[in-house]
Amino acid sequence: MPNLNIQNIRRDFPQLHRVVYNRPLVYLDSGNTSLKPQIVIDAVNQINSLETANIHRGTHYLSEVATKKYEDARLKVKNFINANQLSEVIFTKGTTEAINLVAQTFGRAMIGAGDEIVLTQMEHHSNIVPWQMLAQEKGVVLKVVPVNDDGELDLGAFHQLLSKNTKLVCVTHVSNALGTVNPLSEIIDASHAVGARVLVDGAQAVPHLKVDVQALNCDFYVFSSHKLCGPTGVGVLYGKKEVLERMPPYQGGGDMIAQVTFEQSTYAELPHKFEAGTPNIAGVIGFGAALDYVDALDWEAVEHHENDLLAYGTEQLALVKGLRLIGTAAKKCSVLSFVITGVHPHDIGSIVDRQGVAIRAGHLCAQPIVNRFGVPALARASLAFYNTKEEIDSLVNALNRVVEVMGV
Ligand code: PMP
Repeated sequence: MPNLNIQNIRRDFPQLHRVVYNRPLVYLDSGNTSLKPQIVIDAVNQINSLETANIHRGTHYLSEVATKKYEDARLKVKNFINANQLSEVIFTKGTTEAINLVAQTFGRAMIGAGDEIVLTQMEHHSNIVPWQMLAQEKGVVLKVVPVNDDGELDLGAFHQLLSKNTKLVCVTHVSNALGTVNPLSEIIDASHAVGARVLVDGAQAVPHLKVDVQALNCDFYVFSSHKLCGPTGVGVLYGKKEVLERMPPYQGGGDMIAQVTFEQSTYAELPHKFEAGTPNIAGVIGFGAALDYVDALDWEAVEHHENDLLAYGTEQLALVKGLRLIGTAAKKCSVLSFVITGVHPHDIGSIVDRQGVAIRAGHLCAQPIVNRFGVPALARASLAFYNTKEEIDSLVNALNRVVEVMGV
């Protein structure tokens, strides 16, 4: 039987023990950004207080220490997602930058007028707008896979949208708005069968599911440190080496070159070709500490606990007067999005906030899918392994207060 000692885990997260508006904080916004365990805070403090130095180009002791820790973090990412090679792990400043990198390099170099990119209706804005920008510049055609009333992809429509013109399929692993877990193997296999590459947005998946990029066989997989217990300002682009090697560099500058003259420059090998300038050194090292932390958890137990919380939350929220859950896919994780008849989600967010319960309300950076469900916005509670059933009870009590105050 998988086992997770939640009370011990909760001791590792200082923010779980703070008070807001004179109430204990109930943090149900980890899909937005997760809390950080003490070892991450300590790792970042250590760099900033005692080990500040630049990486890769220094010749002194502290520069070597910082370089080693930075490159160790890359190794931890490689192992975490089971990449085949270290050079397939590129540090970026987040999921958003990783997708823009692919759009600006792979997209501009390898996708042209009349070619097609397939997206889904449930993508985050960061997996829509960079492709629209590319489409406008290059005359690329965007095709969108629709979503059914439960929040699942219409796979029949997906297969029909694929053609020999499809050059890239961009799909989220887990939807931030609905919690839907998408059937990646089917999507990736079918895309490869027509010769298209696949980019998976893993921002909402890596905190909840064990990811193996080689087993998935995706071409790109992107995610952010800050949703996985690490610092903000750090993300990862995983790409298959043979694809990354053929892509032109993203930004020009220090660290990404081999030789520079005024006549011409040559570029560094992977992964440095895509990491121009001084990166977020402390952030990357802090992310390495976050990966040590999550790696030490029993992942089977994490999935079991989170599924339990999701089932409990689904059942309890259904009892709140006027509440409608949005996102009822058969395979989902970590997200409880909802509306309450007659109450704007922003009001829901503000009223529960006053009771110490932090949730998200708004379009969740996914306007197309919110529009699809015919609502102006959503309220969203998002779960992490450090949450408890008692916290879901606090959310439900707070929502009953919303119902009372707003006279639903
Ligand atoms: N994709 C998904 C599915 C997300 O949930 C998010 C963050 N809300 C992003 C992309 C963007 O991540 P970031 O802001 O860290 O770049």
